[in-house]
Amino acid sequence: MPGPFAISTVTRFAPSPTGHLHLGHAYSALVAEDAARRAGGRFLLRIEDIDRGRCRPAFETAILEDLAWLGLSWEEPVRRQSDAFADYAAALATLDGLGVLYPCFCTRKAIRAEIEAAGHAPHGPDGPLYPGTCRGLDADSRARRVTAGEPHALRLDVARAAALAGPLSWTDADAGPVAARPQMFGDVVLARKDTPGSYHLAVTVDDHLQEVTLVTRGQDLFHATHVHRLLQALLGLATPAYHHHPLVTDDAGRRLAKRDGAVTIRGLREAGRAPQDVRAMALAAAGGEASAAEG
Ligand code: GLU
Repeated sequence: MPGPFAISTVTRFAPSPTGHLHLGHAYSALVAEDAARRAGGRFLLRIEDIDRGRCRPAFETAILEDLAWLGLSWEEPVRRQSDAFADYAAALATLDGLGVLYPCFCTRKAIRAEIEAAGHAPHGPDGPLYPGTCRGLDADSRARRVTAGEPHALRLDVARAAALAGPLSWTDADAGPVAARPQMFGDVVLARKDTPGSYHLAVTVDDHLQEVTLVTRGQDLFHATHVHRLLQALLGLATPAYHHHPLVTDDAGRRLAKRDGAVTIRGLREAGRAPQDVRAMALAAAGGEASAAEG
């Protein structure tokens, strides 16, 4: 039995119900469950359905079925982002109180045009950085436009936020200590009218509320952790340990993607594969073992 002050390992798998799970998802789920099991900890599930336009309830049902078929078991209740809007609103209010948010009225088209006109926009991990057009609006025009109901997003003034937070770091199981450089993403969007919390905000708040101590996820999200670390500091949240695991690739070395019609767990099951075969395929395709996730 752990002592009263021991913090047990809590991991999670956080799929988005925008399609069926493929081998890459199976590997990610196995890594998280394995890390919890080996540490005698807890394995949680979270449905990342904040983007209502892209998510379908039928995919959520299928995800739960596929994970159970693979032999995974998780602690109930499953957290669903679409049930947690109040949590994201509370975090936004805290950030607003710190003066690190601003309304951005730019359409995607206007941002593209501005970047093209500038000729040499700095790029971040997700593409060209927002040129900061609305950051310089005075308080009166902001208030007037918001009150008039003009559609807007809320962006993080990353320079101001980073200055407020001071130097930050986080630890990855493979990369070791990493100095946080959230500026590489520019002024990220933290909320939109139709989506009350962006990926960055929702994940940071959820991992805190679910008391996750070890975040395991694919290497494609390594850089996102720079932003999450900054949000943790601003919101006064604990920083979990991280393990960004290798991605499952196809024979040509390309990362599996739902949109490319990657072979799904469901498809393998219907083709008569047994769960243990599919688990072995997922581990082999990632070129490693689930237990490599131990942080
Ligand atoms: N929902 C994200 C995805 O499906 C994962 C987010 C995370 O693990 O932080 O790629």
